[in-house]
Amino acid sequence: MCLFCKIVDNQIPSNKVLEDDNFLAFHDISPKAPIHVLVVPKKHIEKFHDIDAKDMGLMSQFIQKVATKMGLEKNGYRLIVNNGPDGGQEVMHLHFHLLGGAKLNWPHFVNPEDRAKKFL
Ligand code: 5GP
Ligand code: ZN
Repeated sequence: MCLFCKIVDNQIPSNKVLEDDNFLAFHDISPKAPIHVLVVPKKHIEKFHDIDAKDMGLMSQFIQKVATKMGLEKNGYRLIVNNGPDGGQEVMHLHFHLLGGAKLNWPHFVNPEDRAKKFL
């Protein structure tokens, strides 16, 4: 069983924000912003590329509820999904990072020499 399946199953404790039959939201153990919540499907889906339209629709509604519960609706927030090796995904169970509570920077994702200009 993967790490986030164990969190869903309460084998590993987490600081929960919200849950329903299909999804769980809990605070990231190593927050990168004043609010940093992870949202996962309860069933094991490895990565964003594997989720279907129905589940993604439900997940979107759930994420909106989490953001509202955290008081982020008015000032905004950022959603991040790391997908696969180049995306930097470390836990291979789909999760959305919900970040907020401060004005977020827009970081440099790669070294300057690796930035593509071909679409400009
Ligand atoms: P990824 O790099 O896969 O997109 O993000 C994995 C996230 O899971 C990281 O932000 C990391 O801090 C978080 N994380 C890893 N292990 C645990 C854990 O045991 N509990 C919680 N709450 N978060 C975790
Ligand atoms: Zn899993």
